Amino acid sequence: MTIQRLPETVVNRIAAGEVVERPASAVKELVENSIDAGARQIDVTIRDGGKSLIAVADDGCGMDREDLLLAVERHATSKLPDYDLSAIASLGFRGEALPSIGAVSRLTITSRTADADSAWMLTVEGGKLSGPAPAAHSVGTRIEVRDLFYATPARLKFLRTTRSETQQINDTLKRLAMARPDIGFSLTDETKTRIRLNAEQGELLESRLQRLSGIMGREFAANALAIDAEREGIHLTGYAGLPTLNRGNAAQQYLFVNGRPVKDRLLIGAVRGAYADFLSRDRHPLIALFLEIEPHAVDVNVHPAKAEVRFRDSGLVRGLIVGALKHALAEAGHRASTTVATAALGAIRANAPQQGGGPFPGPAYRYPGGGMSRGLAEQTAAYQAPFGGTGPGGEVVAFPPEARAGQEASPDTDAMADAYPLGAARAQVHETYVVAQTGDGIVIVDQHAAHERLVYERMKAALAESGVKRQGLLIPEVVELDEPAVQRLVDRAHELAELGLVLEGFGPGAVAVREVPALLGKVDAAALVRDLADELVELGGTFSLKEKLEEVCGTMACHGSVRAGRRLNQDEMNALLREMEGTPHSGQCNHGRPTYVELKLADIEKLFGRR
Ligand code: ADP
Ligand code: MG
Repeated sequence: MTIQRLPETVVNRIAAGEVVERPASAVKELVENSIDAGARQIDVTIRDGGKSLIAVADDGCGMDREDLLLAVERHATSKLPDYDLSAIASLGFRGEALPSIGAVSRLTITSRTADADSAWMLTVEGGKLSGPAPAAHSVGTRIEVRDLFYATPARLKFLRTTRSETQQINDTLKRLAMARPDIGFSLTDETKTRIRLNAEQGELLESRLQRLSGIMGREFAANALAIDAEREGIHLTGYAGLPTLNRGNAAQQYLFVNGRPVKDRLLIGAVRGAYADFLSRDRHPLIALFLEIEPHAVDVNVHPAKAEVRFRDSGLVRGLIVGALKHALAEAGHRASTTVATAALGAIRANAPQQGGGPFPGPAYRYPGGGMSRGLAEQTAAYQAPFGGTGPGGEVVAFPPEARAGQEASPDTDAMADAYPLGAARAQVHETYVVAQTGDGIVIVDQHAAHERLVYERMKAALAESGVKRQGLLIPEVVELDEPAVQRLVDRAHELAELGLVLEGFGPGAVAVREVPALLGKVDAAALVRDLADELVELGGTFSLKEKLEEVCGTMACHGSVRAGRRLNQDEMNALLREMEGTPHSGQCNHGRPTYVELKLADIEKLFGRR
C-alpha cells in the first residue's frame, strides 16, 4: 500500500461534493460572495435550471489581479483577517466555494475594483487555471459557471429536472434576499424574469416588511404581527403571521441568524410551542424571524454548506423565540386574519364550499367532542351550560352582570357599533351565528367556537392564578365506563382535581364524579368524563395533564360552551362580543379556525358588483 497526497484538483472535487450539492448551492455561494462584497444590486441569470449556465453579476468591491488569483485557491479568503473562527461577521469564511466550483465546472470570473483602470478575467476549467488577462467590465464582479458537474459525471446524474432545479434556485435566492432588503435582486432564465426585488430604502423594519411582502406575499404582510424582543444581548425581530393564516407545511417558516438563512429544528419546535394553543398540529403559521446575536455565542462552522448553526445557549434562544411569539399573539387580542374574509368572499362568489388548501382546515375538521355519538350529543344538548362567566369566588354568574341586575333594556346600538371592534349584535341566525354591525362592515360570529375559546382562556387564566374553582354536585354522578377507562381516569384523579374535576373509582366499571370545574356551569358530567377518558387514550400516558392542558381544557371547554342551537338574547350576544374583544387569542378556536368573519362594507359592495 502506498499513501499519496491527492492533487489539488481532486481535493477540490471532493470538497465540491459537500459545498456544491446542486446548482442552487452554487448560486447560494456566489450570491453570498456578492453580498459580502458590499453589492447593492445582484443579478442572477440561469439556463437549464443552472445546469448549463449560472451567471451572477454584482456591483460590489471587485477584485484586483492578485486577489483574483487567490480567490480560486483553496482555503484563501479575505474574510478571516484575524484567523478567528469565533468572530465571523460575513456569510463566507471557508475559502472553498470558488475553487470547488472551478474544479467541477467551467468557471469564468471577471472583476474590477473601483481604483483599477481595467477589469481582469480568469478561467478555471475542471480545475485548470488560465489567465488572468485584462478585460472590459464595470466596477464589480461577474462570475459565470458553465456546465456544472461536467467534470464529475456521477454528480451530474443526480440533478433533477430543469423545473425542479430552477425552483430550488428561486427559493435559495429569495431566502438570501429576505435578510437584505437594502440590496436589489433579480433572477432571469430563458423564459422570464422570475424574481425582481428592488432595493428598499429607509428604516430597516419598514423596508424589511416591504421585502417580506414581495417574497412571502402581501397576505402575509397584512396579517403579520411585528416581533421585537431582547434577552441577554440576543435581539429578535421579524414578523409572525396570525394563526388563522396558516399552511399545511412549515415551508414558510424562516430563521435568520446574523443575516444568514439557517435551517434549524429549534425554530420548528419553538413555533410549534408558541402556536400550540391556536393551531392543530398539522397546520403551520407563516414566520420570518431575524436573530442578532454576538458572533461568539453562535457557531456557524457546522457544515460546509453553512446552512446550520449551533447556539452556545440554545435554551435561551428557544425561550426568547417562544416568549416573543406568545407575547405578540396575546397582544393581537381577538384579531383574526383578513384572509378569513377573503376566503369567505371567495367561497360565496364561487357559490361552493371552500376547497382544501385555504387558510384554514377544511370540512374534515371537527371540534373536540364532535366525535360524540348522536345520543350523547343530544343528551349534552339537554344540559346547556348557562352562558356566563365566573364571579370573584369562581361561582357561575350569568352575564352580562348588568343585564342580570335588570338595568337598561337595550343599549344604544349605533354608538356601540362604532365604539367596539366587533360592533353591536343585530341578530342571531340559525341559532348558531351572531351577526353584528361594526363601524364599516359586519361581523359574523360562530357562537360555539367563540365561547369555547373564551372558556378555555378563562380556565387557563384560573389555573395559572389560583387553581380552577370547583363546584360540588349535590348527588355524585356515577358514570359507567369500561374498566381500562376507569383505570386511566383514576390514575389521573389527582391531576384532574387540579383542573377542577374531582372523581373516584366506583366499583370496577364506574367512576363517581363529585365536583366539576365551576366555570363550566351546569355540565353533563357523564358526557364530559367519557370524552376525557377517550382523550386520555389519544394523548398516551407519559405527560402531565398540565402539559396537555390545551387538549384537556379544549375537551372541557367544549362541554361548557354555548352549543350551536342555543338561542341568545341581544344582551347575551353583546356580552359575547365584548368578552371576545377582551380576551387574548379569541379570534381563533383551538385549531386555528376563525371564531368570527368580518366583512367590510367595501367587500360586501364587491359582492353586489357595486365596486
Ligand atoms: P469565502 O467566501 O469563504 O471567502 P470563496 O471561495 O467563496 O470563499 O471566495 C474567496 C474569496 O474571493 C473571498 O474571500 C473574496 O475575497 C473573493 N470574492 C469572491 N467573490 C467575490 C465577489 N463577488 N466580489 C468580490 N470578491 C469576491
Ligand atoms: Mg464565499
